[in-house]
Amino acid sequence: MSSSYKPALLKALVRLVRRGAGFEIPLTAIGHEFVALYWMQSIVFRLRQAASLAKEPEAVQRIRATADANRVRNLADLPQNARNRLDLQIAKILTINVLNAFHVGKPESMDDLYSWQSGHAAIALSEKSHRFLRDQSIAVESIANYWWARYLERVNVLAPLIIDKVERDGAKRGSLARYLRILADSDGNRCFYCERDLGAVRAVHVDHVIPWSFLLSDPAWDLVLACVSCNLEKSDILPARIFIDKLSALHVDRAKLSLASIAGSAFLQKDEVDRYYDAALSVEWPSGWEPPD
Ligand SMILES: [Zn+2]
Repeated sequence: MSSSYKPALLKALVRLVRRGAGFEIPLTAIGHEFVALYWMQSIVFRLRQAASLAKEPEAVQRIRATADANRVRNLADLPQNARNRLDLQIAKILTINVLNAFHVGKPESMDDLYSWQSGHAAIALSEKSHRFLRDQSIAVESIANYWWARYLERVNVLAPLIIDKVERDGAKRGSLARYLRILADSDGNRCFYCERDLGAVRAVHVDHVIPWSFLLSDPAWDLVLACVSCNLEKSDILPARIFIDKLSALHVDRAKLSLASIAGSAFLQKDEVDRYYDAALSVEWPSGWEPPD
């Protein structure tokens, strides 16, 4: 059994009970919750759920395959029929190697959290465990997050802020509009990638060279101006290494300018930028994006 299935199941159950689930919880409801949890970690934050992508558990492989086939990164954008099919697939996987394995290795003095019989389409919580999940939901979810993050740390050794990524429910990000003027002043008004002059272009984006979903922050050293097509096409892919070298060269120029608004966090030593890039590569982050000619 995958080392992340147990904390995933605990987290799914505590969330379902918090939202009003009764003693009987349908496997499709658990499957639905599993999809939401793994999607955030594996598709949005690209955390590996095994030492290599090729060895990920079946549930995660199904989720990745669905995201790829539908070309969506936000779960909310997944068509309803694809979502329903995925929920059912995961519910099936639960019956094969998750539900029976969950209690294996628990202390004998501890009661089972639920009961489930092969062939049944729902698990049954006892009154005691239902009350426990409901009354202690915040604490139980923290424990599940800790347990899951500890596993993820072992298989994504160089990924930053894993606990934050596990705890997070959405990929909501702050606006970067305040950087448009600052970056135009410091770097010149050109797309960092295709070098198009942005002076005549109405829409300009601020791009994270190393994806936000890897760093989970907006340090000024990572921000550049990009034309809309480069920004959208690059998405959360790592650019080709030449752009990391170009970013470091930019930092040297920015440091000379000593603009108060970006000084400090705007400057990073070249080897530090390289280290972030290599860290993302080490967890198999997709890379090598270049603007089309
Ligand atoms: Zn461009």
